[in-house]
Amino acid sequence: MRKFLTKVALLLACTTVSLLAQQTPQESALRAKAQKLAQQFVIVDTHIDVPFRMKMKWEDISERTPNGNFDYVRAKQGGLNAPFMSIYIPPAYEQSGGAKQLADTLIDMVGNIATNWPKKFVIATSVNDVTNQFKRGVISLCMGMENGSPIEHDLKNVQYFYDRGIRYITLAHGKTNHISDSSYDTTHVWKGLSFFGRRLVVEMNRVGIMVDVSHVSDEAFYEVMNVTQAPVIASHSSCRFFTPGFERNMSDDMIKILAGKGGVIQINFGSSFLRSDYQKREDEQGKQISAYMKSKNLKFRDTEAQTYIAAYRKDHPITYADVTDVADHFDHVVKLVGVDYVGIGSDFDGVGDSLPTGLKDVSMYPNLIYELLKRGYSEKDIQKICGGNLLRAWSQVERRAKETKSGEAN
Ligand SMILES: [Zn+2]
Repeated sequence: MRKFLTKVALLLACTTVSLLAQQTPQESALRAKAQKLAQQFVIVDTHIDVPFRMKMKWEDISERTPNGNFDYVRAKQGGLNAPFMSIYIPPAYEQSGGAKQLADTLIDMVGNIATNWPKKFVIATSVNDVTNQFKRGVISLCMGMENGSPIEHDLKNVQYFYDRGIRYITLAHGKTNHISDSSYDTTHVWKGLSFFGRRLVVEMNRVGIMVDVSHVSDEAFYEVMNVTQAPVIASHSSCRFFTPGFERNMSDDMIKILAGKGGVIQINFGSSFLRSDYQKREDEQGKQISAYMKSKNLKFRDTEAQTYIAAYRKDHPITYADVTDVADHFDHVVKLVGVDYVGIGSDFDGVGDSLPTGLKDVSMYPNLIYELLKRGYSEKDIQKICGGNLLRAWSQVERRAKETKSGEAN
């Protein structure tokens, strides 16, 4: 075993050496600069699915884990400072009940990460927390709730989840809920937001929780933008320009309106969010696989199904997007509205294998920075993209809430 590992290590070392050998001195210098900037700038990533991953299979993320896209070691290597832990509630909870309870369980789990490894992780609930904890060298765990189902028809739960540390809420996930229609759901029950959903946006502005428009339908997005008095974020969405017809990404018009109110689009790294040719091939494969499973009466979790899927994928490999595709999405937003309204919302631990070459986990942000440097982005612009823009929007939301509350007190 050891012999085998040594061989693998040697092979990797050789590959690295040969890659470096191919690099011009300018490229090597730029790569070194990208590494340096990744450590120098605050990197915020607004969507990482660690809590649900840990719920499915617990791992000690304070050390290098064999699986997943996130752990302390790789986060430090990549210069990640403030990951938003996604408190993800599957859409089925809207009907079955128990959404609030699940949210509490996942929030407790994030709290435990900070309690168990206090020298490595600390909870952050404000922009100040993030900047102060960056100086101390610890990783700030922020929290965003993916799916508003845990609000459970009660506006008081906005303050409740604020007090528990939640700083953004994605109004809906894959299905329409009591708040909003979803981009993946064709029923369009509310033709946008429900009456309660509109009141919820106002309450989130008042309390100081960012409204997240990723996953909602276009109609819901436009309604949010009419109602909100504070900047809004798309925590993990990319540009529809590259994936025509994919409502889960944002159209040019939507990006302009979002930016017009000071909001930020945080680019999702999943290959299907970046390239429509990948999406198309993945859909075709999905159809083939489900037709086979149906013919054999198999369920997804059955061993026979898993063996078939693994063999099928091996025989029909799809080329993933790469880091240059991700940079294209940044370029597109910058061209549309300028450099102040775009950031990182990778969806690490949420999009499986479909991550782009060169951005497979949290150690690889420097590759993105390198690509941006290569395209002529200034250090100041890269700082904004890495986290400055998101922190600016978040502080506007904080300020707005503070002003509203002091107005109420007078
Ligand atoms: Zn999502």
